[in-house]
Amino acid sequence: MARHLTLTRPRSRDSGVQLTLDYGQPRATASVYAPTGRRRLWWLSYRCPHCHGTHLGRSRRFGDIEGTRRSGCGRMIWLDIATVDTKGDTQIRGRLGA
Ligand SMILES: [Zn+2]
Repeated sequence: MARHLTLTRPRSRDSGVQLTLDYGQPRATASVYAPTGRRRLWWLSYRCPHCHGTHLGRSRRFGDIEGTRRSGCGRMIWLDIATVDTKGDTQIRGRLGA
């Protein structure tokens, strides 16, 4: 389960401030599609650990994909990269650095 650190303002019953720590968030693994043609952004799709639906996302830089991200349904997740598709040629991530 995600661990949350929650601060609630004592003066208002309706509003609170929630601080969420980076660790302990549910993990999702993403399929990543490299920019190609006129598309300048990296695209990604992943199965959401919260709502179990599939969400789509975009990123300007490959390096920004992995890590904490707000999922399509608004909740925080930690995203790992499972596969990277470069111009239709899918590679398993472990082979990228080779
Ligand atoms: Zn979701």
